[in-house]
Amino acid sequence: MVATPIGNLDDITIRAIKVLNDVDLIAAEDTRHTLKLLNHLKIKKPLISYYKQNEKIKSNILIDKILKGENIAIVSDAGTPGISDPGEEIVKEAIKNKVDIIPIPGACAAINALITSGISTKEFLFIGFLPVNKKEKIEILEEIKLLNKTIIIYEAPHKLISTLEDIKNILGDRNISLAKEITKIHEEFIRGKISECISSLKDVKGEFVIVIEGSNKTKKEEKEEILRTLTLDEHFNYYKKQNLEKKEIIKKIAKDRNTTKNEIYQYFLNK
Ligand code: SAM
Repeated sequence: MVATPIGNLDDITIRAIKVLNDVDLIAAEDTRHTLKLLNHLKIKKPLISYYKQNEKIKSNILIDKILKGENIAIVSDAGTPGISDPGEEIVKEAIKNKVDIIPIPGACAAINALITSGISTKEFLFIGFLPVNKKEKIEILEEIKLLNKTIIIYEAPHKLISTLEDIKNILGDRNISLAKEITKIHEEFIRGKISECISSLKDVKGEFVIVIEGSNKTKKEEKEEILRTLTLDEHFNYYKKQNLEKKEIIKKIAKDRNTTKNEIYQYFLNK
């Protein structure tokens, strides 16, 4: 699994060059794209294509070749294979067939966007691309809105603004860092609140990574927020499962929802 540059061709490692020179075959996401890199490195090797849609079938062909004694390098168009790129299937297949898999580390847009973001690098969640389907996209954002970890998202330029709007609407106007065209001529980092970043985005061209600050709510606030999303009956059952008395449950619900015991009592009067 050989990482290749995400823009600046100088970012290829000495080991990656050595491996690409030594293998019998290079399996590439897009052979024309990889050929440009190989020409730059003056490497001549047979290429075979494999991409998301044919990854499963191609994996079997590649594993057969490996079992017959060939060494194969897997590369994607840019960065680390398997990271929002094909690679996962062939690794799974290789493990099943007891084939050795060797990582040749290198560039990855997510990690480089994170380390330059100024946002906590301690714990993070890498999402990759959000689903295209709006409903599924919103569901994922709802799921992560209370997460106290940095979030990393890949996005295509034509969807960047609408995704930033969705993030702002669901997660709030958080601090973000937009890493644009990392390692390329027009490399740029736009940092600030989501609304500020949207206003300062003049030219939405090129490749972007969105790094979002995690939620800064305390565990208690998180719990209250989650409980407030429940219906009164769901809220009641939540405490019921903890074997609490009806009176105690009503008291707790009123506190969680910042309302009076009487109001909650009225609701449950006939239950
Ligand atoms: N495998 C790659 C990696 O290791 O980062 C990711 C491939 S994914 C198909 C492409 C997405 O990665 C882009 O849409 C963008 O979000 C991000 N990306 C890749 N190269 C980038 C760069 N030079 N600058 C900013 N983002 C980049």
